[in-house]
Amino acid sequence: MKTRLLPLLFLLLLSNSLCAAEFRAGAAVGDITPTKWPVELIGSFSRRPVEKAHDPLSARALVLDDGETRLVIVIVDSCLIPRGLFDEAKQRASKATGIRTDRMLMAATHTHSAPAALDRPEATASEEYLEVLKRGIVEAVKQANANLEAAEVGWGQVNVPEHVHNRRWYMKSGGMVPNPFGEMTDQVRMNPPRGRGLLDRPAGPTDPQVSFISVRAKGGRPIALLANYSLHYVGGVPAGRVSADYFGEFARQIQKRIAPKEDDSQPTFVGIMSNGTSGDINNIKFVNSFPKPRPPRKKPFEQIRYVAGSVADEVFRVYSNTKHRESITLAMAERELTLDIRKPTEEQLGRAKKVLAEPDESKLPSYAKVYAENALELAEMPPTDDIILQAIRIGDVGITSIPCEVFAETGLDIKERSPLKPAFTIELANGWNRYLPTPRQHRLGGYETWLGTSILEIQASEKIEHVLLDLLRDVSRDEATRKRNPNE
Ligand SMILES: [Zn+2]
Repeated sequence: MKTRLLPLLFLLLLSNSLCAAEFRAGAAVGDITPTKWPVELIGSFSRRPVEKAHDPLSARALVLDDGETRLVIVIVDSCLIPRGLFDEAKQRASKATGIRTDRMLMAATHTHSAPAALDRPEATASEEYLEVLKRGIVEAVKQANANLEAAEVGWGQVNVPEHVHNRRWYMKSGGMVPNPFGEMTDQVRMNPPRGRGLLDRPAGPTDPQVSFISVRAKGGRPIALLANYSLHYVGGVPAGRVSADYFGEFARQIQKRIAPKEDDSQPTFVGIMSNGTSGDINNIKFVNSFPKPRPPRKKPFEQIRYVAGSVADEVFRVYSNTKHRESITLAMAERELTLDIRKPTEEQLGRAKKVLAEPDESKLPSYAKVYAENALELAEMPPTDDIILQAIRIGDVGITSIPCEVFAETGLDIKERSPLKPAFTIELANGWNRYLPTPRQHRLGGYETWLGTSILEIQASEKIEHVLLDLLRDVSRDEATRKRNPNE
């Protein structure tokens, strides 16, 4: 009798433990503000050493666990983070928490007021700062993991079109200038001069959608809100200061609205703004003539506060009516894709060498020397690179990640074709492989397509999208399987 009961009891216990697998979440912030000054800012064409921070830089981590899959998303206030740095941070975070490295999505926000995380012509990364960065990321993951508690999740979207503008324009006659290679072959111009009546029409769409995932503790206390918006950055940071740009300001503004009064004995609410697909999108409203009189110049940080506040208002309005669910499941899939690196032709190399030998820069087109250096750098690079692509499912939501500055049209296409809806893409994730124009945009030319600004093969965006849709199908199938066999 006893022996026959035992297996039954075991089965009963097993099914109980499976049913008891509850959804849990934890969030935390790691400080990555420089501790030693000066540091050099990245993201422009000139050296910008700075001595102070205007606002803190953070790594914001969200750990989710459905009892079977544990994953982490970390959004880092940095401009560009190379794969090697993320790989090392993942290894360390994995060692500290046991979370698999292929269950980690780590991405830079793309603030242009952060210290370099790699050496570029305009900035040299300091070893000390690289360590601050890695340690901050790992700390955020460790703490978020330690904060795991029973939780519920909600999601939503809202269109906020007024802050996003396509920055690539077809120009009227007389509006184009030679590119850095001395050619007049570009059909579109990035950030064209406003006010001279030379603008024709934008060369691509914008994605006005803000997507968000809200995580609350069982009972309703807010844990975190992860948002995603396709806006390159805002800018207008006080000169000579480090800043998290509107990404950091959004985190503060959404916290004010969602979790204004916090209990010190509980983990602090973490607001997070990730970058969508904003390679060709910025916050400059291009118009053909300036209104007269010209509007007064904005004070430093004023535009950042305005955009962040407006986006936080819209998100909060939808958030307030968002249904949160306790019984959701997760899935994540990661794949490496090998892509060709664009190489300069013999002719382009010869021209680059001539440009670099020219002592009188006034004889050269703008940025000719920068792109000549780029050509030599590309000639030395390995012929291919392996990039990490990921898809995550959180409940019904699909998230994809790409290690590039992705064009809005690629993000819109993924949203439309994704088997999971809603869906959104986090760019500059798990590495940095520069701009990712679509083949159509490559044909139009312009800054983002120039050899050096773009280094992946011309078809890269299509190959990447193909893999991502495959991964999205994988993580959505996972859900279908579980629905059919709820006890598996
Ligand atoms: Zn940029």
